Amino acid sequence: MQKHDQEFIKKKNRTTVFEMIKNNSPLSRADIARLTGMSPTTVSRIVSELYNLDYMHEIEQETIGVGRKAVFLQVNPKSVLSVGVEIDKLSIRIGVIDLDGRVIGSRMIERQKNEASDVTLEHIASGINGLIEEKDFDRRRIVGIGVGLPGIIDHSGGKAVLSAQLGWKQTDIAGVLKKHTGLEVAVDNELKVKSLAEHMYGSAKGSSRSVLIGFGSGVGSSLIIDGEIYRGESNSAGEIGHTVVDPNGILCECGKVGCLQTYIAEASLIEQSNKIKPIASLDELFEARREGEFWASSIIDRAMTFVAVTISNIACMYNPDTVILTGKLVERFPEVREFIAEKCMGQFVWEPLRGTFQIVYSAFENDGVVIGSGLLAQSRFLDIGSQMEQVEQV
Ligand SMILES: [Zn+2]
Repeated sequence: MQKHDQEFIKKKNRTTVFEMIKNNSPLSRADIARLTGMSPTTVSRIVSELYNLDYMHEIEQETIGVGRKAVFLQVNPKSVLSVGVEIDKLSIRIGVIDLDGRVIGSRMIERQKNEASDVTLEHIASGINGLIEEKDFDRRRIVGIGVGLPGIIDHSGGKAVLSAQLGWKQTDIAGVLKKHTGLEVAVDNELKVKSLAEHMYGSAKGSSRSVLIGFGSGVGSSLIIDGEIYRGESNSAGEIGHTVVDPNGILCECGKVGCLQTYIAEASLIEQSNKIKPIASLDELFEARREGEFWASSIIDRAMTFVAVTISNIACMYNPDTVILTGKLVERFPEVREFIAEKCMGQFVWEPLRGTFQIVYSAFENDGVVIGSGLLAQSRFLDIGSQMEQVEQV
């Protein structure tokens, strides 16, 4: 056999064993041989290599019925890392994520309103490099960077096609970050990566058809079918904020009239409030409602009605098993949750669909985009065979 064929098979076998343990742990060496069809000797050798390079833990467990202890293998979640980044209008979150989707180091950076993309991306790159250095993470174990941001994203090209919130157009995010960090970079819409985090480790774990709906500075959604993000023709499936709900309604920032988000998005609610009383934030609006001010109740009740309408429309369109609600409106003001549930199940959701899905809330809240972005990078770039070769070269 040629040398490069041997190298290829070695890499492939290491990857097979690692993936097998990662997805089915705990497993014994005998289980792995049986499941992969490899010889016990080969399995033993690969497991020792993985163990010596710190990819595995051994745990002792009683085997059922036999009554004696056996040794099982489990992946060390900190043996493979990735970086997750969330770019928002006024802030950036950076986190180092392990294989279990846990944030094991993080950093926040401020962003100026309308800051140019190259300035923001340089800040992100130095933030990432700084975090890796500060916490002394092993760069060889970092598979890459995932970035989540609002807007329409070319996920295969790593570009922001259009992000109205950030003021970015055709921005090459992956290219610039790779240049400054030396790491591979995957980019996607923030709600798409957030739904990935909820699907893998959060509120929608075990679901086969889930929809995540975000109510914040805009309104958007992401659909996961059988573990895959549904992207549509131009990766813009789920942009429900610009579905028209009233052709005679209010002008939207997109230039159309009566878009859904003109009734729910934060800026719209504040703008409407200002017709009655000068307020600067949602906190003040909710405060006014708590004090029994009628106008504040009207604005919030109408917004919650549109939230319920959105959930019921989505249930009709996709027939999901789980609807995850996320975003400032439902996370910072949990008093709205009961109202939404009542409106949905008492009024808007079509009767045959009631009871076919559960409404849940994000398990990760503010960390969701960072975790999902990190998991996106792991799913895109993890090549355990190649990483082991690098780690071996000490
Ligand atoms: Zn619009």
